[in-house]
Amino acid sequence: MKKAGIFISIVLLFLTLLSSACLPSGTPKGPAVPEPASPSEPVTPVAVRQLIILESSAEPAFPALLNFKLRAAGDNITDIRLHYTVDREAFARVTSEVYVDFTPGTSVDVKWTWDMRRTGGLPTGAGVKYWWTVKDSSGANVETAPASISFDDNRYVWQSLTENKVTIYWYSGEQSFAGELMSAAQQTLVRLAQTTGAYLKTPVKIYVYANTQDLRGAMIFPQEWTGGTAFTEFGIITIGIDTNNLNWGKGALAHELTHLVVHQMTHNPYIDLPTWLDEGLAMYNEGALGASFVSTLKMALADNSLISVRSLASPFSANTNQALLSYAQSYSLLEFLVTTYGQSKMLELLTVFSQGSAYDSALEKVYGFDMDGLNTLWREYVVKRYRAAGTTAALPPAFIRVASEMAAGFVLDLRLASLSGSGR
Ligand SMILES: [Zn+2]
Repeated sequence: MKKAGIFISIVLLFLTLLSSACLPSGTPKGPAVPEPASPSEPVTPVAVRQLIILESSAEPAFPALLNFKLRAAGDNITDIRLHYTVDREAFARVTSEVYVDFTPGTSVDVKWTWDMRRTGGLPTGAGVKYWWTVKDSSGANVETAPASISFDDNRYVWQSLTENKVTIYWYSGEQSFAGELMSAAQQTLVRLAQTTGAYLKTPVKIYVYANTQDLRGAMIFPQEWTGGTAFTEFGIITIGIDTNNLNWGKGALAHELTHLVVHQMTHNPYIDLPTWLDEGLAMYNEGALGASFVSTLKMALADNSLISVRSLASPFSANTNQALLSYAQSYSLLEFLVTTYGQSKMLELLTVFSQGSAYDSALEKVYGFDMDGLNTLWREYVVKRYRAAGTTAALPPAFIRVASEMAAGFVLDLRLASLSGSGR
């Protein structure tokens, strides 16, 4: 729990204002120097209560609520507003302003709760900055200095491990467990730099939950099959990794971390990456394509049901088999581009996309062909690559990933546990 609070002791200034030579009522700015009263005029003492903030705090009740509190005293406080911003990568900074409902008075104690069940949630570790403006009936007003809190999942006691811009937070398992995940993360970054030239520009945080169930508890609207999520605008990954399932965890971590790096390399206000490129980079950087994906690809080749590159530029189908094939093809497209044209061309492509280029023109500029041209060349490649090996009849239960966008605008990478529903 992190609680940012400002405690200021009560200071009540009683200014005795003598005769007509006095400060305007309700604006006690600077020291008032009482002038000697004229013996011929009546003396009217006026008590002015200075507007003052006594306490300001914010406390998360993760994952759904963030509770703000303010205590203030003044000369009939009439207006209290809370202002807050969320630390996220955005091209336009959004400040929210909340008019707090309360009964005016000389001493006020107000609460306001940000209910994320209505607005969409924040990932654990997201930073929130907030401040208050308070006015009283005399016209005096105070604005508090901005305070920052981390919206942490404080239901667990997190340990942390940091290396080269990557911090892993975990609460279950030994130090060696986190160490293994860290070395997997570092290898992911090295591999990605070698194949694409992409690198981490700003620090990222990875929250490792003990299992899928705990991870679901961190979500406001949990999905049965969520295994890991990359919150790209926050530089945060949340993932459920059982200590007995470390190999799965390393692959999933490599996948999500690649999404964060690629986002940092290409984020622009105009256009997202084509889905096949974003997912293909993440899949390719995990390592060799899994057997179930290879089977899917071979079956689609055999019955001529490959999806076009142009279709794969859009979000993938929610249909499980179509999603499996989409990820498999994305991997294969990346393999084709990287092994045929090399690292420098891929880096050039990411750079062109970071400038907000449209899909066809970016490909044309870097490779000399558009999405249809890529489709033709890639089909020739994939036929040679897989057809000779024959086809596989049945699909084993497999991990699959479905990318989707939620209303809150987070780009989610949702990892289906398995086709058999075994929960990983
Ligand atoms: Zn993905």
